[in-house]
Amino acid sequence: MTLQQIDLRELSEIRGNGRDVLTAYFRGADGLSQLSHREKQIRDLVDDALELENFEASLSNLRSLLEDNDVSDAVGVCAISSAVLDICRMYPIAMEVPNRLTFGPAPFIRPLAELQDEYETFLLLACDNDRTRIFTVTNEAAEAESAIKGGIKNHVRKGGWSQQRYERRRDNQLEHYGDEVAGELESLIRELDIRRIVLAGSEETMQAIESQLPERIGELVVGREAFDLDRPEDELVEVAYEDYFAQERRDEKDLWKRIQGAALSDGRGCLGPKETLAAAKIGRVETAIASRDLRTQATKCRQCEDVTGESVDKCPGCGSGDVFDVDYIDTLARHLELTSAALDFVDPIEPLSKAGHVAALLRY
Ligand SMILES: [Zn+2]
Repeated sequence: MTLQQIDLRELSEIRGNGRDVLTAYFRGADGLSQLSHREKQIRDLVDDALELENFEASLSNLRSLLEDNDVSDAVGVCAISSAVLDICRMYPIAMEVPNRLTFGPAPFIRPLAELQDEYETFLLLACDNDRTRIFTVTNEAAEAESAIKGGIKNHVRKGGWSQQRYERRRDNQLEHYGDEVAGELESLIRELDIRRIVLAGSEETMQAIESQLPERIGELVVGREAFDLDRPEDELVEVAYEDYFAQERRDEKDLWKRIQGAALSDGRGCLGPKETLAAAKIGRVETAIASRDLRTQATKCRQCEDVTGESVDKCPGCGSGDVFDVDYIDTLARHLELTSAALDFVDPIEPLSKAGHVAALLRY
C-alpha cells in the first residue's frame, strides 16, 4: 500500500469518547522498541482505570499483530489499535515517519495528513527524440505508466532542395510524435487524479510536446528541465521533486494570500485555531492552512464528546470538567476529512503565525 492510498476519511470515522485508541508510528526495522519510553509515560499519565486497561489490551493486540506480520522491511509503519473498539491494523509505507505513540479518542492521523499533503502523486514525463516515458511519482519513487517511441533522427546536412525536404519531413515527424505523447498524457490525466506534471529531457522534444498540449493540461506543467536521459533515474526523480516542491511552496503562499484577502473583505475567511476548528466542525471550511510547526492543544469533553480549539479546564459546551487535551492539528485534520475539506501544511509565514498559525477559506 502506498501512503496516498491510506483512506484518512475512513480513519477519521473511527472514534471513541475517552482515550480509546492507540496509534503508533515507527520504523519497520525497529518495531515498537523505540517507543518503550512513551509507553511508560502513557501508563503514568492515564489516570482512568478503564482507559488504562484498554491501553494494555490494545498494546498487547498490536504486539500479536506484529508477531504475525513481518513489517521489518517497511520504511515506516502506522499502527492503530483499540481493544474497546475492536480494531487492530497496520499500514506499512515507503516513507519515513516520526516515532510516536499516542493514546486518544481517535486514530492519530496528523503525521499521515502531513505526508499526504507533502507527497501528492505527480506525473513525470521524460522525453527525447528517441522515446518518451511517462511516470507517476509517489513517495519519492517513480513508476512507469507508459512509453512512446519517437525515432526522430538528428539534423543531417544534405544541402539544397533535399535538405529542405528532409527538414520538412523531420518537422512533421516531430509534430506527430508530440501529438502522440500529448494524447497519451491526456488519457493518463483523465484516468488518474493528477494536479501536477514535470517535463524533463531534450529541449526540442519538450517544445514539440508542449505545443500539442490542450491549455488545461499545459496549466498543470509546473516545471521543465533540460536533462540528459542517460543519467540515472533517481537523479531524474530528484530534479523533478525540486520543481514539484518549488510549486508546492508557491501554491502555499498563494493560498495564504487568498485566505488573507477573504478574511479582509467579504468574510469568507477565518483566522486562528479556535475559529477554524469551530468552522470545520460544521462543514464551513473549504481549505485550511496550518504551520507545520504548530504544537497547540485542543480540549475534548468526555461528557458531551464536543471538542474545542483551545486548551481549557471546562467544556464550553456542557460545562463539564471531565475534559482532556488532544493534539489540535490532529483534531482539525479529522474534522476536515469528515467534511471533505482540504488541509495544507505550510512552512511558517509571518502574518499567518501572527494570526495563530491556522486559518481557512470558508465555503459560505
Ligand atoms: Zn462537554
